[in-house]
Order: sequence, then structure tokens, then C-alpha cells
Amino acid sequence: MRKNIVAGNWKMNMVNDQAKELALSVVENSDTVSCQLIIIPPFTAISDVQKVINKSNILLGAQNCSQHKSGAFTGEVSADMLTNIGCSHVIIGHSERRAIFGEDNQLLSEKVNHALNSNLIPIYCCGETLQEREAGNHFDVIKRQIEEGVFNLSEDLFGKIVIAYEPVWAIGTGKTASADQAQEIHKFIRSLVLEKYNETIANNISILYGGSVKPDNAKEIFAKPDVDGGLIGGAALKATDFIAIATSF
Ligand code: PEP
Repeated sequence: MRKNIVAGNWKMNMVNDQAKELALSVVENSDTVSCQLIIIPPFTAISDVQKVINKSNILLGAQNCSQHKSGAFTGEVSADMLTNIGCSHVIIGHSERRAIFGEDNQLLSEKVNHALNSNLIPIYCCGETLQEREAGNHFDVIKRQIEEGVFNLSEDLFGKIVIAYEPVWAIGTGKTASADQAQEIHKFIRSLVLEKYNETIANNISILYGGSVKPDNAKEIFAKPDVDGGLIGGAALKATDFIAIATSF
């Protein structure tokens, strides 16, 4: 059966001393957590955080990786570099990468393939803007993001990935999708997976919700049958909030 996961995306926050302190606080308070925790610091803090979470059950992720294996790509970080410093996961296609850095489904598909080839598990993000939802296009947008981003994968490789549904209008805005809205889209994504692959893969893939998840709304959202946890931004910067969310199943 699929895993419940709570992943904390620290974005471009936390210089290394702050990162180590936050990671330590998460480790020290994680005894009561039964889901899989993943900490996703900025690149610069990954190695220091790795040393802190080393002996715990917490996994480590990165926020992005290059679509290239190595070479003359100044400023880029490859998937191999990330596995080599202890990362098991990488976020691919976060809406901030799509909107601010112009990453499209084609590029993201290359990144997903590349990450998997380097034994990194992609957390592939999808989600509609407010304009797309208000125009009633959200199902189409998400279907396209999923089809073009990850449906070129073989059954074997697709079976390894995690999907995060993150409505853009709910990220960092304090505006959360209702638990019913989240469930509706998660169920839709799972039905796409069933249609494309098979029942086992559809039942086993973890689909996370992201968008202003906080300790006071996590329980209702995580109670929905197709929601398998969360990708947490702002609330992951405070260990007590992150842990409170992770104990909301
Ligand atoms: C995110 O960045 O993936 C996110 C969900 O952020 P927040 O929880 O702050 O909305």
C-alpha cells in the first residue's frame, strides 16, 4: 500500500547554521511521527542537514536538478551530485520553477527521466493557477502536466515517483484548497494513472497536497482517501508546525 509522506520544502531560506538547528529540532521531535518525513533544504545546506539527520529515519531531498548529466552548465546541479551527498528525492516542476524560471512540461519530463536514471525519486508537482481554475480549465491543465511530464515513463519507473498537487493560488497565500477540492483533484490524478498504467500502480502512488498546509488544516485534508500527505512550504520552517502537520494522519 502507498506511503504517507510529509515533505518540507524550505525554498531559498535558511543559511547553514539555521538549517542545522531546524533539522535538529525536527529530528528531536520526530518520535511520534509515523509517516515518512522528507526535509528539502536549499542546495547549500544539504550536506550539513544530512549530517544532522543521518541516524534518523528522515529522508533528504533537493528542490531542483539539471536535466543534464554533467558538463559545461554553469550554475546547475546534477542528479548524480545530489545522490552522492545523500539525497533520495528531488522536487521537479514546482510552480515557482514553472512560473519564474519558465520550466515547461517538456523540460520537466527530461529532468524526471534524468533524476530516475540517477536513482533520485522525483516529487513531480502539478497544479493550476487561479485564472485556470476560474475558467474551469483546471482538470485539463493538470492532465496535460501529468501526461507531458511523467506519462512517458515505463511502468517500472513510474512506480517510483511521487506526485504533488499544488494549486498555484494556494501556495504561500494562506488560501488552502478545501479538503474536498484537494480530494477531487487527487482522485482525478489517480484515475489518470489507472487509465494509463494499472490498478496496482494507481493504488500505490503517493499523491501529496501542497498549498498553505498548516497544523490546523492538515487533519481534514489528510483524512481524504486520495490524499497521502503534504508538500509543505512556509510551515516547514518551524519544527513544531512541521511535526504537528506530520502527526495529523
Ligand atoms: C510549496 O512551496 O510547495 C508550498 C506548498 O508552500 P506553502 O506551504 O507555503 O503554501
